[in-house]
Amino acid sequence: MEHQLNAENMPANYDTLLSPLRVGAHELRNRVIMGSMHTRLESQSDPIAKQAAFYAERARGEVALVITGGFSPNSEGLLEKDGPRMDDAKETLKLRPICDAVHAEGALICAQILHTGRYAKVENCVAPSPIRAPINRFVPREMTGDDILRTIKEFATASANAQAAGFDGVEIMASEGYLLNEFTVHHTNKRTDEWGGSMENRHRFSIEIVRAVRERCGPDFMIIYRISAADLIETGAPKEEIIALAQQIEAAGADMLNTGIGWHEARVPTIAYPVPRGAWRAAPANIKQAVSIPVVASNRINTPEMAEDILTSGDADLISMARPMLADPHFVRKAREGRADEINTCIACNQACLDYIFSERVAGCLVNPRASHETEFRNTPAEASKRVAVVGGGAAGMATAAEAGALGHEVTLFEAGDKLGGQLNLASAAPGKDEFDETLRFFKNKMAKHAVTVKLSTRASTDDLAGFDHVVIATGVTPRIPEISGVDHPKVATYAQILSGEVTAGKTVAVIGAGGIGFDVAEYLVTPTDETGDSFFETWGVDRSFTAPGALSGDPLAPVAGARDVTVLQRKPGKPGKSLGVSTGWILRNALRKHGVEMLAGVSYERIDDAGLHIMLDGKPQVIAADTIVLCSGQEPVRDLNEALAGQGITATMIGGAKEASELDALRAISEGVRLAQTF
Ligand code: NAP
Ligand code: SF4
Repeated sequence: MEHQLNAENMPANYDTLLSPLRVGAHELRNRVIMGSMHTRLESQSDPIAKQAAFYAERARGEVALVITGGFSPNSEGLLEKDGPRMDDAKETLKLRPICDAVHAEGALICAQILHTGRYAKVENCVAPSPIRAPINRFVPREMTGDDILRTIKEFATASANAQAAGFDGVEIMASEGYLLNEFTVHHTNKRTDEWGGSMENRHRFSIEIVRAVRERCGPDFMIIYRISAADLIETGAPKEEIIALAQQIEAAGADMLNTGIGWHEARVPTIAYPVPRGAWRAAPANIKQAVSIPVVASNRINTPEMAEDILTSGDADLISMARPMLADPHFVRKAREGRADEINTCIACNQACLDYIFSERVAGCLVNPRASHETEFRNTPAEASKRVAVVGGGAAGMATAAEAGALGHEVTLFEAGDKLGGQLNLASAAPGKDEFDETLRFFKNKMAKHAVTVKLSTRASTDDLAGFDHVVIATGVTPRIPEISGVDHPKVATYAQILSGEVTAGKTVAVIGAGGIGFDVAEYLVTPTDETGDSFFETWGVDRSFTAPGALSGDPLAPVAGARDVTVLQRKPGKPGKSLGVSTGWILRNALRKHGVEMLAGVSYERIDDAGLHIMLDGKPQVIAADTIVLCSGQEPVRDLNEALAGQGITATMIGGAKEASELDALRAISEGVRLAQTF
């Protein structure tokens, strides 16, 4: 089953998405679920108030059902030491204000019960068999029969604790390679007792858990089971086993089947921007055809159009979105009010949500600095409207202007170029990063809505900026030109010239600099221009009928033909790509490896001439016979205007790349812009 959305077949309305649905004993007001996501808010000061504010904001935005981050039913299943758990009735009761806050906004709330199995970052972790996960340093202890029976009871106890605290139900997490999923497949279940071997035995643990929760919590308590609809690992479950499990889970008493895609150790990207929107929809569709309870689609669904199309085509009954609710808590409300073009779309970058979580920070959002920081921002108009000038129409400038406009200030934005977007326009040229166009659309529409005056092709002079209450310099960055002999050779181009299409690279290319931009440029250069979303499945060895074991049709790391021969270089020793985000860096590194890109570290640049790029590596001279040499060697700030203003006695605030070019990315640019506008 294959669906591509284009302007012609885009749904004109969201009638199905906004229609109510009965799930067990409950009525959901529409088909949108806020999917489970660990936020780390529980580790902050005043954790209950912060979580209540966070979830209530999403409920106010009209999601039908909120599913919390995972709570472990015992100490062995903790995501990490001191992680959230639900095994203590008294402690769980403290969560009641969160449920009350969500209910007050008209949504339902379920707690996710998550036993992380062999992914638990705790020494006493357990699994069906003692096989260490490639992403964990702890070897799990094999569960005994008694451990299994105890754990089934603990799932029921945790669910009863949730019920007593006011939750409407639980989601039993059984996908992504966590404990229940580890029981269902041969890959991690080598047992020979009644919990391993045959399919019936491997499914028994999950089924008994659902039965136990239903028995303990009664008929009105919502039970969602998150089934692995595609494991994306070798010897994962084939379609017929997934369907058999789904049917038995229904018979055991579950009210709804949510779906998960890919284990955490899978080598196929599942949620990051290289994954086409809606890529996984055929996986829940397989399940939906075999059960009568509602089935939920998840992963890489980030627009109401895609969500509506999945529902109307019959691939799923509901849509779960987690990151899109960080990006815009009012996603559903805006769709209902005919304001879908005001939705701040999740661009699947993972930069401020998953990458923050992995580095033990609170989950945030690149495009929405308010996410998880709801209590730090005001949304009411400023007491006095000020005259604000913003110079520069890149991410930082647009974020400042849009926020200041929304707070009631009179804003003028000056942009020297003939279009808005700055570095976002370049970023969006990289494969899969066209999601940045949504960010551009969001800020443009927000500025238009709040009457920001945009002056394109206008290089602001000091005279233009006189008389404003606030002047903001967001003039951004320019590519750094390294001091290499021959850098002015005609075969040299900057990353900006390549990504903007001003210069077309030859067949053999050397990329100087292995930071985020060097990797993006390399991927841009090796990706065939006619590559479509469909080739994602071939590139990563995914069986798009979701029938084969683990839904794999080949080796996800098998080589694929690249459009050019590319070598990426850096001066420092060590693995190139270390600065890339945790949750996307491995995808980029593997994608480049698959396309045959060569990586050289510890080089020194000698000169550039007709023969190509001359370097020293391991004390030996080498020539990279490149047709094109692309400079991805960082950026320099553009600050001329600030210096001129200082001379005129006009005080300005610098933000984004103009303030600090190193480590600049859209995350810092947008955050600085929005936070500055809040101070006017
Ligand atoms: P970057 O990450 O700082 O990388 C700059 C690269 O240029 C480094 O590899 C550096 O390596 C090299 N370099 C620096 N000065 C040089 C010189 N004078 N001569 C030769 N080489 C030099 O910066 P970026 O790639 O321009 O990215 C800018 C920002 O955007 C970063 O914060 C980055 O994280 C972010 N970004 C991230 C992603 C992503 O995560 N996917 C994508 C795009 C951008 P050596 O000094 O070792 O040679
Ligand atoms: Fe989406 Fe990126 Fe925001 Fe995460 S940080 S929610 S991936 S836009």
